[in-house]
Amino acid sequence: MSDDDRCRACGKRIKYKAGARRRLYCDERCRQKAYRARQRPAHTERRIAERMARWRRKGYPDSLIEQLMALGNVYGDQAADAVESILMVHELVVIQQVRERDAKRNEA
Ligand SMILES: [Zn+2]
Repeated sequence: MSDDDRCRACGKRIKYKAGARRRLYCDERCRQKAYRARQRPAHTERRIAERMARWRRKGYPDSLIEQLMALGNVYGDQAADAVESILMVHELVVIQQVRERDAKRNEA
């Protein structure tokens, strides 16, 4: 038995019926899994580019974008998304505070 007899996705031995042609994967699920793994790098690059573009549109300074990128690299995308959500709530709080301050100023 050689490595050719093993599925390239899960590593399990591929069972052949007599006369069947050689296969790279044991089943359709493993074939799909291998396909998705091949797509991932390009997909990840695109997602990172989209995210950075969104932060730029929001007017985040470069230093903040760098920190969010570092956070995503170390703790994963979900961590960066969570911090972005917190920043959005914080923005709303600040906007509300400014409005209240301005309202008081106008009363005086
Ligand atoms: Zn397999």
